[in-house]
Amino acid sequence: MKYLLKSQQSTIESNKEITVTTSTLNRIPVQDEVLILGGGVAGCAASIALARKGRSVTLIEREPTPRHKICGEFLSGEALEDLHALGIDVASLGAVPIHYVRLAAARRAAEAPLPFPAASLTRKALDTALIAEAIAAGVRVERGRSVETLQLTPNNLWQATLDDGVTREAPTVFLATGKHDLRGHARPKDPERWVAFKMYFRLAPAQAAELARASELMLYPGGYGGIQPVQGGIANLCCVVQQRYLSGAGNRWQNFLARMQRDCPHLAMRLAGAEPLLAKPIAITHIPYGYIRRTSENGLYCIGDQAAVIPSFTGDGISVALHTARCAVAAYLAAEPAPLFQAKLRSSLLTQMRLAEFAADGLNNSLARAVLPFCLRVWPGVMRVTARLTRVTQPASYAPHAVAS
Ligand SMILES: Cc1cc2nc3c(=O)[nH]c(=O)nc-3n(C[C@H](O)[C@H](O)[C@H](O)COP(=O)(O)OP(=O)(O)OC[C@H]3O[C@@H](n4cnc5c(N)ncnc54)[C@H](O)[C@@H]3O)c2cc1C
Repeated sequence: MKYLLKSQQSTIESNKEITVTTSTLNRIPVQDEVLILGGGVAGCAASIALARKGRSVTLIEREPTPRHKICGEFLSGEALEDLHALGIDVASLGAVPIHYVRLAAARRAAEAPLPFPAASLTRKALDTALIAEAIAAGVRVERGRSVETLQLTPNNLWQATLDDGVTREAPTVFLATGKHDLRGHARPKDPERWVAFKMYFRLAPAQAAELARASELMLYPGGYGGIQPVQGGIANLCCVVQQRYLSGAGNRWQNFLARMQRDCPHLAMRLAGAEPLLAKPIAITHIPYGYIRRTSENGLYCIGDQAAVIPSFTGDGISVALHTARCAVAAYLAAEPAPLFQAKLRSSLLTQMRLAEFAADGLNNSLARAVLPFCLRVWPGVMRVTARLTRVTQPASYAPHAVAS
């Protein structure tokens, strides 16, 4: 049973609520088995899997409705498999199949077929579908509510305090707030001070035709960017740059965009005659690439970007988020303690993460930028091998051990 304040009814999307009309309650006893904080990819995936196993789950998401998020919106083969298993049909949502990867640096570009099926889909469409699937699975979804703090009570319950002072308690929490850290549970600072931008463009028809079914990775000093088609004939340009290079562009998007095009004429060609579709780019700062959480506390399973942050050029963050959600659910159902789960997840992700970081460092090197496209033209297989090596660990490599409680 769950008790809610009358004034909160409109923000809650579930048909399972029992309402108590008292205005003095602000601490609300709940008997949820699991509280999920964050309703993005990882949080929704975990909540759907738990609800389908008959567990009572509440998911708290701070945005009232899905919105555009920083993301290249590339869905790798593993992500597509996981989404399919969750009941998400990306084709019906308008996903665009992606068959090729192109690497462009300076004046050269090289192309290779992707060694796995892939697609692109806007995060807005994906997150909308995931939240709907969670509600259909019986998850109590509270939207437009932000978690401010999370702490352990003396009776070993996790207590989340929301922005209006209301609290939620459960013995188990899945922390899935993505890029946003909760006070007391922060990830380490990002020494490179990465900044990411995303902008949608309507490309000129000839450029849109050239880009069709390809994901293009572009290299420039201090970072890299990706452009690919998403549904509705739109292209997503998503790029990252270290703060010190952005400072050189006066910390202004227009200057930085002009500089990227100067350093990478391939991008200038793609954007010739393109119309920007957002009033300003979506931006975030401080992305702790390469981070993998070492351990956790009892009852606190960290998933998605809160568990691991893979370099963006791999286009594998969504897949990692889905993978960590699936592993955490398996661990929880097998009564594996969260600290053990977190340590085992770390070792299962370590190799891919280090390879991805190594490759990202290579992309950032001026000599590599000069010779890479040339080498890839001679030996395009390298691109396929790199794409394979930086994929997230396959499900079989993580197996929970049941622990008697
Ligand atoms: C520049 C860039 C490009 C990328 N491109 C790709 C790509 O092409 N393909 C790919 O697979 N991955 C990509 N990624 C990575 C991918 O976006 C993330 O790894 C993935 O979204 C992580 O999922 P998540 O569920 O952890 O977080 P999210 O999907 O971000 O979800 C977190 C949710 O928590 C909510 N939230 C946050 N704080 C609170 C709070 N206090 N209370 C309640 N709710 C809260 C947020 O509103 C959000 O909905 C990219 C990342 C970056 C930075």
